[in-house]
Amino acid sequence: MLLGLAVGDSLGNTSESMTPEDRGWRFGEIRDYLPHPFHGDARGYPSDDTQIAAWTLEHLLEEGCIEPECLAERFAGSHIFGIGRTVRQFLRNLGQGLAWSECGPDSAGNGALMRIAPVLLPHLTTGTPALWADVVLAAALTHNNRASTSACLAYTAMLWELLGMEAPPPASWWVTRYVKLAADLEGEGPLPPRGGADPQWRGPLWRFVAEKVPRALDEKRDARAACDTWHSGAFLLETVPSLLFILSRYAHDPEEAIVRAVNDTRDNDTIAALVGAAVGALHGASRLPARWQEALSGCTRQGDEGHYQRLVGEAFRRFGPVEGTGGSATRRN
Ligand SMILES: [Mg+2]
Repeated sequence: MLLGLAVGDSLGNTSESMTPEDRGWRFGEIRDYLPHPFHGDARGYPSDDTQIAAWTLEHLLEEGCIEPECLAERFAGSHIFGIGRTVRQFLRNLGQGLAWSECGPDSAGNGALMRIAPVLLPHLTTGTPALWADVVLAAALTHNNRASTSACLAYTAMLWELLGMEAPPPASWWVTRYVKLAADLEGEGPLPPRGGADPQWRGPLWRFVAEKVPRALDEKRDARAACDTWHSGAFLLETVPSLLFILSRYAHDPEEAIVRAVNDTRDNDTIAALVGAAVGALHGASRLPARWQEALSGCTRQGDEGHYQRLVGEAFRRFGPVEGTGGSATRRN
C-alpha cells in the first residue's frame, strides 16, 4: 500500500497537471520514471503526496496516534515539493499563530486524501474506533471540509478491506462501497463542479460518483475519455470519480491501473498515488513491477534518498502482523 502510493506519485510527478493529450504528445505513454527537472534530472522522485504521507508515518511511528498539533509542526518543518494551494494556506495560518484547529481551510481539494493511507497502520492489529478519530484529525487539519473528510474515511475503510481480500472485488464494488461508506458522512451539501462536461450539476461528491462513474463504465469509455468528462484535476469532484473509474476497470492489473492514472488524468501524481495505494493494498508489493520499486528514490526531504523505504520497513516491524495471530487484515501488507 505504501509502496504503491510512492510509486504512483513518482511516476506522475514529472508531468503533473498537463492535459493527457499534451503529456502524450510530449512523452508518449509513460510507463517508467522520467528525469526530474528540479532534481538534477534524477529519476523516481516524489512530490508532496509521498512527502506528507511519509511525515505522517514518521509521526505515527513516534506518537502511535495522530496528535494534530505535533503533526502540524512536522508539516511546517521541511520544504514541500509541488505544494498545493490549500496546504500553503494552512501553513500560512499556522505561521500566523492560529490554533491547529483553525488552520485548515474549508477546501474540497485532494490534498488530505492523497496522504491519508498511513493513518490506517497503527490500527491494523487493534481495529478500534480510534482509527476513525485519527483519520478525521489528520484530514481536517489541512482540509476542514465535509466532502474531504468523508472521502478520507471511506477510502481508508476501503484500503483496510482491500488488505484482507484474497482476490480483486467485482468491478461494481468500488463505487457501491464508496457510496455506502461516504453518503451519510458527507450528507447532502452541494459541491458544484468547476469544469468538465456537466458544469450545471449540483449535489454532494458521493452522488456525483454514484451517477457518473457507472454510466462511464456502462458506456465502455476508456480511462482518458471517462476522466476527461469530469476533468480529473485536484478537486475531489474530479479526483474521486477518476480514482474509482480506474480501479473499477483495472484493479486486477496493478501496473496497468497505475499507468492509466499516470497517463490519462490531469492531477496524475495524486490520482496515481491513490490508485497505487489501493492496488498495492489489494495485491501486495510483489505485484508492483520490480523496476518501479528498485528505481524509487524514496526521498522525503532534500538529500534523504531511501528514507521512505526505511520508514516502510519500520512501519511493517512496528504495525505489521504479529506472529501467530493470523489476522487476515494484516497478512499481506
Ligand atoms: Mg503532488
